[in-house]
Amino acid sequence: MKDTNCIFCKIANGDIPSNTVYEDEDFRVILDLNPASKGHALILPKEHAANLFELPEETAKKAIVLAKRIGAAMMETLGCTGLNLVQNNGASAGQTVLHFHLHLIPRYDGDSAMVQWEPHTSDPEEQARLAELIGKAVR
Ligand code: 5GP
Ligand code: ZN
Repeated sequence: MKDTNCIFCKIANGDIPSNTVYEDEDFRVILDLNPASKGHALILPKEHAANLFELPEETAKKAIVLAKRIGAAMMETLGCTGLNLVQNNGASAGQTVLHFHLHLIPRYDGDSAMVQWEPHTSDPEEQARLAELIGKAVR
């Protein structure tokens, strides 16, 4: 289903033009309007899903396989030496467009494309508790 108010629905389905890298029946891959690095692309499913949790499992599987294919083409053509896959869910995680998208961010030696997280020390007891807590809720 398309969401008529969703900009990525419109782009994914070709109602708004975009710099399209790849298209098939399930996805359109476009260049990001404000790229973090040269070649920064977004994999957009054509079916609306707000985030990872709404995305059908089959589409999620296909998205990661497609990321591998597009990423390989980037490594071959752009002169990048690495690739980050980024996928934000929720405002606290930096999601600004509420239609699932998977970022492919080509990386170049010495670039400053991504802010790295700050590693914290961990408490072994807390880590054991968290592993059990999350693990028990996996469905
Ligand atoms: P988020 O922060 O939600 O993970 O990422 C949204 C991304 O979409 C941003 O990197 C932003 O630059 C990109 N973006 C937002 N609107 C448009 C648009 O209309 N066209 C394209 N090509 N990219 C967009
Ligand atoms: Zn949408």
